[in-house]
Amino acid sequence: MDLQQNTFTLEDLCARAGGGGPIPPEVRLAVLGSPVEHSLSPSMQNAALEALGETTRYAKIECPPESLGDAVGWARKAGFLGLNLTIPHKFEILKICTELDDTARQLGAVNTLLFDGSRIAGFNTDGPGFVRALRDVFSFDLRDLRVMILGAGGGAGSAAALQGALEKCPRLVLVNRTEGKAREVARRASALLHSDRLEGPEDRVTVIPLEEAALAEQLARTDLIVNASSLGMKRTDPRLVPAALLTADLMVYDMVYRPAMTRLLEDAQAAGARTANGLSMLLHQGALSLEIWLNRTAPLDVMRAALNTQA
Ligand code: NAP
Repeated sequence: MDLQQNTFTLEDLCARAGGGGPIPPEVRLAVLGSPVEHSLSPSMQNAALEALGETTRYAKIECPPESLGDAVGWARKAGFLGLNLTIPHKFEILKICTELDDTARQLGAVNTLLFDGSRIAGFNTDGPGFVRALRDVFSFDLRDLRVMILGAGGGAGSAAALQGALEKCPRLVLVNRTEGKAREVARRASALLHSDRLEGPEDRVTVIPLEEAALAEQLARTDLIVNASSLGMKRTDPRLVPAALLTADLMVYDMVYRPAMTRLLEDAQAAGARTANGLSMLLHQGALSLEIWLNRTAPLDVMRAALNTQA
């Protein structure tokens, strides 16, 4: 069965917990989300599992928000090793976890579950995956960069901002259409930075409105722009940053990976900036999740190749 093409339902998972249904018995890992059909994780994870000689396989399961508790219960009953969580489950799952690793607690979100007897351990590999992705594609550490995050109030944006605070970034500029959400993320990021004895006199976390003048002023003191908003997935999406503001000394990371070349990345390349799409973040968060489940080193090159054939 092609586990990249097939999307299973909650009924399928319930049937599997009862010992039957269409989900093959070797499937003991899955991503739960809604919508989840677009996820490339099965392709990447199954290539890795195969390369490691593991018999376990990974599937994607459509799970509406109100059924998360049932889904986790059925997955455990079916003998799953763990799960990935994507939109919209990364926050609600906190209530179900019996324990959290430090990153999940500090970011306030979980994307990976490990089942171990009665324990349901929650982890967050999005933040650390983002750090590894930047090192991979730009050869830079997040902790050394002055970062502007577009869409900082969303799930991916807040994870990037809070990870930036954990890494003690010298400067975090948070931009969000709904400014109040960025302010709440800024409050949490400042609290994480506050413990840093090296904090300078200037406020290291700034919230600005999504307006050209404010963006222009801050971009003069920015090394890396991160698009964590959902804009860029459609060709007709408006620009968040006017092309004229982009310069050759910037790095631009777009968390969107479909399409591989977004308008933001096109504009940035035309300005001479270094650019990367979100495929590297998908890769590294997935590799870290696999290492949690298997306690083995993930075969990054195999996973990268599998993603490149799908993207
Ligand atoms: P989310 O929680 O729904 O957040 C969406 C963000 O986009 C919010 O900040 C939202 O602003 C903003 N936004 C939406 N429409 C907008 C518009 N018309 N104008 C301005 N801002 C707008 O979603 P998410 O989970 O964070 O995902 C965001 C993006 O990151 C998606 O494209 C997703 O595919 C990508 N992502 C990639 C990876 C990866 O591994 N590469 C991982 C996670 C997510 P408001 O707060 O004002 O609504």
